[in-house]
Amino acid sequence: MPNTPFKISCIVPAHNESSHIEAFIAALTQTLSAESPHVEIIVVNDGSTDNTEAIVQKLLHHYPIRYLSLSRNFGKEAALSAGIAFADGDVTLLIDADFQHPLELVPEMFALWRSGFDMAYGVINDRSDESTLKRWGSNVLYKLLDAKNSKFSIPRNAGDFRLMDRKVVEALQQLPERNRFMKGLYAWVGYKSAALPFRPAPRAGGESSFNAKRLFGLAVTGITSFSSLPLRVSGVAGIVISLAAFIYALYIAWQTLVFGNEVPGWATLTVGMMFFSGVQLILIGVLGEYVGQIYEEVKKRPLYLIDKNQASPMLTNTPSQ
Ligand code: UDP
Ligand code: MG
Repeated sequence: MPNTPFKISCIVPAHNESSHIEAFIAALTQTLSAESPHVEIIVVNDGSTDNTEAIVQKLLHHYPIRYLSLSRNFGKEAALSAGIAFADGDVTLLIDADFQHPLELVPEMFALWRSGFDMAYGVINDRSDESTLKRWGSNVLYKLLDAKNSKFSIPRNAGDFRLMDRKVVEALQQLPERNRFMKGLYAWVGYKSAALPFRPAPRAGGESSFNAKRLFGLAVTGITSFSSLPLRVSGVAGIVISLAAFIYALYIAWQTLVFGNEVPGWATLTVGMMFFSGVQLILIGVLGEYVGQIYEEVKKRPLYLIDKNQASPMLTNTPSQ
C-alpha cells in the first residue's frame, strides 16, 4: 500500500485534557501529515468536565478533526471503541492526548506497517515513574493472564498506543462484548504484529484518570474476560479441601475406635467452620464476578452513547469520506 495515497484515521480519547489538547493536536497533525495528506483525527471527548469541548470545537476550523462527544464519562475502553467504530482509514493510530505516548515513535510505526506488519504497538520498557502498587498490580495481572492463554498471549506492558491496519480495525469492530479489555482484544484478533519499546513521557498537564480503584476494576474485567483460571482454581481448591476433609474423617474414625470418644475437638470445629465459610465466600465472590459479567453482556446495552458528532470542514475534502 505504501505508494498509493492512503487515509490515516487517528483516535484520541480525551477526558479533561484542556490544558494541552491544542498543542497536542497541532503536534499530532504535523506528525501525521508527514505520512499522508489524508488524515482524520477522531477526538473522542469522554465526558470531560473542563473546557476540552470548547477547545476542540474551536480546533475543528484548523485541523482535520472529527469530534465525537460521549453523553457522559464511559471510560477509556469505551471511548476507544467509539473511535474505532468511526475509523475508516486504511490505517488507524490510537494515541493518548497527554503527550505520554511519544510522537517520535509514530514514523517508526508507519515504517513497520509499510514493511508489511498489520499492527505496531508500543511497549512500556520503563515503569520506574509509576507507583510500586501499580507496578506490582500489573505484574500480578499479566502473570494471571499469561498462565492460561496458550492460543494467543497478551504482550506484557503493551498499551493502547498502536498503529493498526484496516483489517485489524474491522476485526475489532466485529467484537460484540460489553466488558472491553482492549489490551486483550488486540491480542485476541491476532495478525502480524511488531512491538516497539518506549518510555512514557510525564503527563503534559492535568491528572491521570486512573486511580487504584479504577485500575483494579479494569484488571478484574481483564481477568474475567480472558481467563477462566480463577474458576478452575476454585474447583481444584474444592477437590483438595474435600480430600483433606476425607482423610481427616478417617483419622477421627480411627482415633474414636482405638481410644474411644472423649468429645474433644470443639476448637477444630470452630476454626474449621470459620475457615471454610471464608473460603466459600471467596469462591462465591469469584463466581459472582463472572455472573456479573454475563449479566452485563446479556443486557446488551450500548457501550457508549454519542451526544455530538461534528466534522471539520477540512474533512469533506478527503477522498474516502
Ligand atoms: N481517558 C478517557 N476516558 C477516561 C479516562 C481517560 O478517554 O475515563 C483518556 C485520557 O484523556 C488520555 C488516555 O485516556 O488520553 C489515558 O488516560 P490517563 O492519561 O488518565 O491514564 P494513564 O496514562 O495515567 O494510564
Ligand atoms: Mg496518561
